[in-house]
Amino acid sequence: MRLVLVGPPGAGKGTQAEVLSNKLGVPHISTGDLFRAHISQQTDLGKEVQEYLDSGELVPDAVTNEMVRARLAQPDAVNGFLLDGFPRNTAQAGVLGGMLAADGHALDAVLEFRIDEDVVVERLLARGRTDDKEEVIRHRQQVYRTETAPLLDYYSDIVVTIDAVGEVDEISERALRALRALK
Ligand code: ADP
Repeated sequence: MRLVLVGPPGAGKGTQAEVLSNKLGVPHISTGDLFRAHISQQTDLGKEVQEYLDSGELVPDAVTNEMVRARLAQPDAVNGFLLDGFPRNTAQAGVLGGMLAADGHALDAVLEFRIDEDVVVERLLARGRTDDKEEVIRHRQQVYRTETAPLLDYYSDIVVTIDAVGEVDEISERALRALRALK
């Protein structure tokens, strides 16, 4: 399966992505995790993107798109993937569509994790990643609303909305049930 996960920061996408990736047997590809790995290894790309992650801005599309293109070309992603954090705007979505179409592929579904913003601020503050300061979180939420939420219209034909309030297991079950219903 070729899936994209969409949801506001703190919706639990990363947690759900891990579970779904195991259940579906496709790799979990998180652009946030890829960027953080570059930053901790102090690669050139890591140095280039650090300030964007620290401030909660989107990394420029050209950088992000090429990183994703390289990752999707790895053998483990050939038969499916779960993209978490990409695309994050409609321009990235267009590029992803082009990459897939070039191989005769397309997305199977876009899973939207829906949750109220105020609930997630508390969660993120508790998580305590370096970009989880209240001001940066609020900014990431604003970026989500203006840049990322339009993807829900862009992908309206294939969006499956999951209620992301509840226990981790409960939410995974909802997502798996929704995916089974697609076939
Ligand atoms: P969260 O979902 O909590 O916002 P992520 O780990 O998905 O956290 O992303 C962290 C940061 O990584 C973002 O604030 C942004 O700076 C950068 N980033 C991740 N994915 C993308 C992307 N597709 N395009 C641009 N920047 C991205």
